[in-house]
Order: sequence, then structure tokens, then C-alpha cells
Amino acid sequence: MTGLRIFFLALAWFCAWGQVSAQASHEPVALTPGQVIAGSPELIRVNAPEARSVDGEWLGRKIQFFRPADHGAWIALTGVDVEAPVGSSALHITAHLKGKDADLSRDVEIHAAHYRTGALTVAPKFVQPPPEAQKEIEEESQLKAKVYAASVAEPLWRGSFHAPVASAPTDSFGTRRMFNGKLASIHKGADFRAAAGTPVHASNTGIVVLARPLYFEGGCVIIDHGLGLFTLSMHFSRIDVKEGQRVKTGDRLGLSGATGRVTGPHLHWAVRWEGAMLDPVKLLRLNLNAVR
Ligand SMILES: [Zn+2]
Repeated sequence: MTGLRIFFLALAWFCAWGQVSAQASHEPVALTPGQVIAGSPELIRVNAPEARSVDGEWLGRKIQFFRPADHGAWIALTGVDVEAPVGSSALHITAHLKGKDADLSRDVEIHAAHYRTGALTVAPKFVQPPPEAQKEIEEESQLKAKVYAASVAEPLWRGSFHAPVASAPTDSFGTRRMFNGKLASIHKGADFRAAAGTPVHASNTGIVVLARPLYFEGGCVIIDHGLGLFTLSMHFSRIDVKEGQRVKTGDRLGLSGATGRVTGPHLHWAVRWEGAMLDPVKLLRLNLNAVR
């Protein structure tokens, strides 16, 4: 009886704490980076040691939390899409305790990112693909959708993400682009300067789920890091990995090049979580070494 009373008192305290002390230093839910900007990856920590599982939802995307073996906190590596609406958003989190759920939901303000506008020129077939290319593009689109829908149900990444090439990325994520003065699109990755033939490496542990030439992407390698998180490398001149292969941080994926929709040789590197396109440079800055 006494033990049960203590449990419910602790639970009541725990729930109240979640509602009133969102700004306190020992808050049950913590986001890193603390300032959420459209396009930023977000590490969410939930301090709910008694929970048997924790799940959530943010802007229509399902969040699956996991608890590293030596951790009290539940972790999810999530993010806000580059085109996410600016303003208040509801971050729903539920901790499932023994016989009871604790609602740890909170409002999160999404701040505007100040991305640039640019113009570039590519071969006309990439702005207006010829009719004979439509079937190929459609098939590739279905293949990618299938790959994205089948992410492994556990985290595969270990520690922080590492840059895929040694060169610094250009400040290009989120740029609104005009192709040949016509088609407007948003650049949803980071471009790294890379002469054709530069070795490109796996940024973290995962499984190669796509490794083949595609119409727009050129030589493309997609790695599944688990729980809906993928990294994409494009425009390879040569691919050195196979679909289904497990890779570790630093493993060579292939050589950079200028295949697909490009203006010249470079590496396009992108990060996708549950369909949200995230700023790769911000992911590289996240210190995940103490997390897992
Ligand atoms: Zn690019």
C-alpha cells in the first residue's frame, strides 16, 4: 500500500513537473539545439526513468524514442523540415509508465531560417525532362519511396556524424534556386567542393539501402541509420558499395563526380528524417558522442 502511494505521488509530481517547469534546467524534455529553426535537426531527450516506452509526434511525423543501455534518458534524433511553418508547433510526447501514461507534450517555437536565393544553369533535359525519361523518373521515385518506408526499427548510428569528404561544405542548404531562369526549387542538402574522383565516406554506421545511378541524383548512395533517419550522397562517378551492405563511419562509399543534375563536379549530401529534409551542416555540429 505504502509503496503504491509513493508511486502515485511520484507520478503526480512527475506530471506536474512536466507542465509547469518547461523552462527549468532539469526539465523532463530537452531539445538540442535549444533554438529550433526551420531545417534544423533536433536531439530530444526525455527524462522518464520509470517509463517502459516513450513515443511522440511532431508536425505529423512519428517519433520513436529509444533508451541507450547505460542511459536513464530516452532519446530521439528528429528534426524540422526546411519548409516547416514558422511559429508555434505542438510536440506530442507520451511516456508509458506501469499502468499509466504521462503526457509530456509541449509547444515548441519554430524560428525562420534566412536562406538565400540563387540561380544556376544546368542541361535543359534536367529542367524539362524529355518524355522518354518520364518512366525512368517515375520508377526511381517509387523505388525511393519504398526505401524510405522501410527504415530499420532501431538506431544504427553511433556517436557524432562525420563529414563525408574533407572539404568544407558551402553555405547552400535551403537556398531557393532558379534553374535556367525557370523552375524554382529549394536546395535540400549541402554541397561540398570535391574534384571528380574524391573518395566519399560514410558519415555514420548504417545500411546501404540504395546504391545506383538515378536520373537527377546521378550516382546515388542512400544509407539508413535507423528510426527514419537517412543520409544521401549524390553525383558519384563510381559507387563502391552494394545495396544491403552494412557500413561503418569512414567507410568508402565511392568517388565523387558530376553525374545527374549538376553544374560541375561536387558532392551533394543530404539528411532526411521521416520525410523532413534537415541541414546536414547542423547535424555534423551535433555532439552525439555522449548519447550513444
Ligand atoms: Zn546540391
